[in-house]
Amino acid sequence: RDLSTLILDRIRDVPDYPKPGVLFKDISPLLADHEVFAAVVDALAGSEPVDKIVGIEARGFILAAPVAYRAGAGFVPVRKKGKLPSETLEESYDLEYGSATIEVHRDAFTKGDRVLIVDDVLATGGTAEAAVELVRRAGAEVVGLGILMELAFLKGRERLPGVDVRSLVIV
Ligand code: 5GP
Repeated sequence: RDLSTLILDRIRDVPDYPKPGVLFKDISPLLADHEVFAAVVDALAGSEPVDKIVGIEARGFILAAPVAYRAGAGFVPVRKKGKLPSETLEESYDLEYGSATIEVHRDAFTKGDRVLIVDDVLATGGTAEAAVELVRRAGAEVVGLGILMELAFLKGRERLPGVDVRSLVIV
């Protein structure tokens, strides 16, 4: 069976998490399946040369670290504000209620580094948009955004013009 079917069979819908009315896509069953997890990592790694893989806290880390290993690239964490120890750049974005801030180390990249950003789910696109901005401000080039599952009805892709969004499944 094709990869998208294998992925869809191993993502669990959890109603009313983290709050009422939200149908959360839980990737735990996928991560627990060695073969599908490995196939996902291979697919996200692609074949073009990149210098760094950026993972977005927290589930993005789980995917991005093995993708970095597979791609022969370094790993760079993008974290929620206050978690990175050294000097950072920060970017804020709006949530349904309030806002969030993510950070990257100022010296995470060598100028001109080719970067693939990886996360598990693309929803409204706010997180990915902020991560793209951070990578660019830090002097690197975003060659793509690798996503396990894109929720098309939230139109996150529309917030990412000029970004090569590579989603393994779109629902
Ligand atoms: P966005 O900023 O695109 O609205 O939300 C994407 C971010 O929130 C990603 O970092 C993703 O991990 C998390 N997220 C939002 N909705 C879901 C969901 O239904 N399932 C999972 N696994 N993550 C989600």
